[in-house]
Amino acid sequence: MTLNYSGKKALVRVDFNVPLNADHQITDDTRMRAALPTIMHILEQGGSAILMSHLGRPGKKTLPDGSIDTPTFTLEHLVTHLQDLTGAPVHFCPETIGEIATQKASQLQAGEILLLENTRFNSGEKKGDEAFAKSLSELADFYVNDAFGTAHRAHASTTTVAQFFDKGQKEFGFLMENDIKNAHKVLSHPERPLTAIVGGAKVSDKILLLERLIDFVDNLIVGGGMAYTFMKAGGGSIGNSLVESDKLDLARKLVEKAQEKGVQLLLPVDSIIADKFAADANTDTAPSNAIPEGWMGLDIGPDARAVFSEVIKSSRTILWNGPMGVFEMEAFAQGTLAVADAAAEATDGGAFSLVGGGDSVAAVNKSGIANRISFVSTGGGAMLEFLEGKELPGIAAM
Ligand code: AMP
Repeated sequence: MTLNYSGKKALVRVDFNVPLNADHQITDDTRMRAALPTIMHILEQGGSAILMSHLGRPGKKTLPDGSIDTPTFTLEHLVTHLQDLTGAPVHFCPETIGEIATQKASQLQAGEILLLENTRFNSGEKKGDEAFAKSLSELADFYVNDAFGTAHRAHASTTTVAQFFDKGQKEFGFLMENDIKNAHKVLSHPERPLTAIVGGAKVSDKILLLERLIDFVDNLIVGGGMAYTFMKAGGGSIGNSLVESDKLDLARKLVEKAQEKGVQLLLPVDSIIADKFAADANTDTAPSNAIPEGWMGLDIGPDARAVFSEVIKSSRTILWNGPMGVFEMEAFAQGTLAVADAAAEATDGGAFSLVGGGDSVAAVNKSGIANRISFVSTGGGAMLEFLEGKELPGIAAM
């Protein structure tokens, strides 16, 4: 961050979309903590911060009469904790724009925070409405976007609002800067060999990512449920494993493209199989292309773990999105943990590793090696789209 915030009011788009329990208590404040460096930077320079965020999906879960369920989705639930985290006075504004917002913003003193109400209470937010964005912009001198997790949405507070600030009046916050900088380490001039590990449930969610990766990685490791679509496409028997029958051609094409480009595409040679999708299922090991009827592959097997780990450990750049198996259940978590260990070991030896996408972040946290990974992105879907090579509206607008 390079702007001088002394005496300035900064409108900051943060991602405070934190999980709340039935009593409206925050159950995981990771996203709030992630925005602290930016908020504190502004306050410490003698500026004030007007924070805006969405929380949940108020448009999808309205009250029976169709009105917004304010008691559930109000950002007021976050005020006390924000005060604890920052040690600064936090004022709450029960609207996002309007007379009260204008008045509270004008009264805001240096070193203070004003938290605006949920941006999604306004119908203009998701439409990227210009009038709504303009009203937001009038609350402050500067605009700071620190919500990488919503940068792939062309909403008013993440994108449209930026056009009402000149070049020297807007910038990315530290969180967003970090996500962009680290993704670029993988995308432009990475140290080689570069290995991408893609897992998770479905090929269909990751088609663009896989296609793009084949253009520039040296090794592409595919695990998780999506591997069985590749196995079936190659003529294997996969029992009851997850499969997308309409994606068999696509899987074949990806294999061909990898061959053409000289990319080593690695599928799990064996799998941990189960007789039902349950933590207490009977389990066994089988070749991934010869899974008996009535059984399903729920994790990569011991041979696949060894092969994948070897490749990862000899890589200089590692990109990981998606678990190798149903890691939420202990019996099927070994593959994901082995990959996490290998990535951590490679990083200890000087490789650069980036983990991005919701579930892989959870997997890395579960394995306890998150602090040995070079960068763990909280950007979820936004990081996925960034790696797919798409231009994110929230970034383009700046
Ligand atoms: P994604 O959100 O696409 O990264 O998918 C993550 C989900 O994929 C996790 O909830 C895993 O439990 C699930 N998953 C991973 N491997 C398998 C598998 N072999 N069969 C079924 N689900 C899987």
